[in-house]
Amino acid sequence: MDALRTETGAVSHDERLDRLALIAVHVGLGLRPGQELVMTAPVEALPLARRITEHAYRAGASLVTTLFEDEEATLARFRLAPDESFDKTNGWLYDAMAAAYRSGAARLAIRGDDPALLAGQDPDKVARANRARSQAYRPALELITQYAINWSIVAYATPAWAKAVFPDEPEHRAVALLWDAIFAASRVDGADPVASWREHNRSLQARCDLLNAKQYRTLHFKGEGTDLQVGLADGHLWLGGSTAAQNGIVCNPNIPTEEVFTTPHKDRVEGTVRSTKPLSYQGTLIEDIAVRFEGGRIVEARARTGEEVLRKVLETDDGARRLGEVALVPYSSPISRCGLLFFNTLFDENAASHIALGQAYSNCLQGGLAMSAEELAARGANSSLIHIDWMIGSQSIDIDGITAAGEAEAVMRSGEWVS
Ligand code: ZN
Ligand code: ZN
Repeated sequence: MDALRTETGAVSHDERLDRLALIAVHVGLGLRPGQELVMTAPVEALPLARRITEHAYRAGASLVTTLFEDEEATLARFRLAPDESFDKTNGWLYDAMAAAYRSGAARLAIRGDDPALLAGQDPDKVARANRARSQAYRPALELITQYAINWSIVAYATPAWAKAVFPDEPEHRAVALLWDAIFAASRVDGADPVASWREHNRSLQARCDLLNAKQYRTLHFKGEGTDLQVGLADGHLWLGGSTAAQNGIVCNPNIPTEEVFTTPHKDRVEGTVRSTKPLSYQGTLIEDIAVRFEGGRIVEARARTGEEVLRKVLETDDGARRLGEVALVPYSSPISRCGLLFFNTLFDENAASHIALGQAYSNCLQGGLAMSAEELAARGANSSLIHIDWMIGSQSIDIDGITAAGEAEAVMRSGEWVS
């Protein structure tokens, strides 16, 4: 690997970016020769999008299409567009994306969002724009959540995101520090990044195998204002790391990833829970969330900041008040240990155990991919236009697994796996 190194022996930024592109194509997507690729990227991520395009064509891609997104244009809409704009969306674009996936295209998203982009905007307009977009996006999103195709998400250190993570640093330094964190978490720095992902996927799979053998009826989270019973769906399946999509291709949907996750039962969640990290939701920070569940449904919700946005989210539809995911991440995970708050779910959800409001992943049920919506609901899988992860784990949270016989077994103590 000598050719990859600079004279000082350190791997250059360009080389690390190239390795991230290689991982996106070969680990994230597992792109097949002849397959099309549809990519979305912030305009700032052009250098990574170009390298991914090159690696995709080298891997035999038949056609790569990139759609660039510009946050300045989003702000211009909020500043200048007429009120009726916020009930509109470019549904034709989402229809075309769904058509591409149905014809076999893979999907890659590069994310580098400014976490506070819409913080100063009218929450009603933000909610209306999100609802219109969610409804139009649903058919395409379902092909993704049901793993009809191989898909993945990778990160790009945009200046706005970097300044949110490192507010006291000058911009160029903030960007460099965020890149270090992204490259480390995305495992690009070892001698053989693809082999280190293979090893990481193996260890996540071993954890899933243990939990799948247990088939706990309920997970009980305790500590720090949290006393929450999360009933698990009947025939639930724990997943983590790589996943085989229905097209037979093994992909890693999130780069990075540290979580193992499954489907809770939408009607069997009881008790109170507090967030342990801020939730960055489409430009607004929602901090110190505290909610109470009854019969699976959120019946009380508060937040120190962003409460109004949280309430709007919960009003999206009936499923928005119910859980669609529960995920376990040890406090000692590398992303947690770096001590940073990323204000980005792709990273923060991998620093802590979490739950998600809204849509469940049907592949987290045994045989779930072949089930109808009615069959999924009968097993307890939730349905909603939204899927929003928020963090509830920390080093002071204990988790018990409750067996079918009603016995409690220690799963995590002080945020770490017991065995
Ligand atoms: Zn998750
Ligand atoms: Zn999630």
